[in-house]
Amino acid sequence: MLPFPEAAERAVGDSQLRHNLRMATRTIRHKREEVVGELDDWSALRAAGKAVKDRTLRHLDTYLERLEAAVTAAGGRVHWAADAAEANEIVTGLVRATGETDVVKVKSMATQEIELNEALAQAGIIAYETDLAELIVQLSDDLPSHILVPAIHRNRAEIREIFRDRMAAWGVAAPEGLGDDPRALAEAARVHLRERFLRSRVAISGANFAVADTGTMVVLESEGNGRMCLTLPQTLISVVGIEKVVPTWSDLEVFLQLLPRSSTGERMNPYTSTWTGVAPGDGPQEFHLVLLDNGRSDVLADEVGRQALRCIRCSACLNICPVYERTGGHAYGSVYPGPIGAILTPQLRGTASAQEASLPYASSLCGACYEVCPVAIDIPEVLVHLREEVAASPGHRAEKAAMGAAGWVLGGERRLGAAQRAASAARSVVPRRMPGPASAWTDTRDIPEIPEESFRAWWRREGAAEPAPGADPAEPGRSGGDEEGGRR
Ligand code: SF4
Repeated sequence: MLPFPEAAERAVGDSQLRHNLRMATRTIRHKREEVVGELDDWSALRAAGKAVKDRTLRHLDTYLERLEAAVTAAGGRVHWAADAAEANEIVTGLVRATGETDVVKVKSMATQEIELNEALAQAGIIAYETDLAELIVQLSDDLPSHILVPAIHRNRAEIREIFRDRMAAWGVAAPEGLGDDPRALAEAARVHLRERFLRSRVAISGANFAVADTGTMVVLESEGNGRMCLTLPQTLISVVGIEKVVPTWSDLEVFLQLLPRSSTGERMNPYTSTWTGVAPGDGPQEFHLVLLDNGRSDVLADEVGRQALRCIRCSACLNICPVYERTGGHAYGSVYPGPIGAILTPQLRGTASAQEASLPYASSLCGACYEVCPVAIDIPEVLVHLREEVAASPGHRAEKAAMGAAGWVLGGERRLGAAQRAASAARSVVPRRMPGPASAWTDTRDIPEIPEESFRAWWRREGAAEPAPGADPAEPGRSGGDEEGGRR
């Protein structure tokens, strides 16, 4: 993966991509604005969502143990995975134990984060994505570029080509003469997926929320594919990040109001599925919950950065972000793109590589993401915090030394005066572009022209003889409207 600046430079050169993104993000953004504006108590709901998440994160150990006990009591089995490798091993083992070689999947960020599909493929198990946008991404051997709309970078003409060229290799082929009408495309996907739903005996999902009190998993989706995966197969495996737990159903109620309005701009979510363990003769008869850490405990330990764990993956911050709208999601090099990706990925993966270290800078710090976030994550605050961390790393020693020298010069009047005189004397030989690695600074900035004389020198020479602004020129030393007079 390229560092963000290089990846973004490529992306902004793709005018089709920018057009697709502009259309899609504007549409969702306006829908969100309308439905959020309908609620008088939106700010109170937002504060409640923040408070519930903060309280849960403060006592995360307690709620996770409560969740484990409730899931077990309801007939499910809980597995703890410290990292991606462990989670993949657990899931692969569970699928193997069923004797099946293919699974259907509900859209899940956690399984993308741990690259579960790739791990399953290595074990000879094919994972079939069933969310329409994820299906498009999978068929085209592409990467998701948006949390909610993973194929947001594709338009319908491109989707028709993907369906026509690739569907047959994955199951039921696209119909002859398929056009790019959205209804026809949706019907082709429906026919292709239905056969898969009816054949698969194992499903893998994530969960938007996990209710600790009852051990209930909750998935919100818009197409009904999730409902099919969660009810038809015999075995259901849910991979869920440890931050997804909420204490009670009353707490869940807050998020069921916040999430649909913030994500799809709908008043109510179309398909909200909940399941608690297993019920004889009804739905999957085997249920496994894999609780995933994969860096989350480290994020929780960071007093500023931990607020990123409040995220409910609504994607409102992506749709409002001027940087995301121009670059799209691939430039972020992570399953989590946009503003939330810029703060979550470096915290989950660390900032040792150039790619991850570049992410906290993938923002103008305009603050729009914070304004729309339904759980009030102060993304700019975390970005600045992470920039401090990156700047303190060994790779930034030269910059740190330069800032230290600048601080020393600016910290003393005589030193500053001497530096200004030296700069004025050398002004004719100072280049407009910096040489070497420092050229990155001047590639996008002009070095201001150095004046012959500094303001301070001019003031010493001329200032004492000039009347202060607003002073009565007829009476030097007396200010026009100030009875006390005197120099300012
Ligand atoms: S950071 Fe906030 S706005 Fe962005 S996806 Fe998460 S909850 Fe939504």
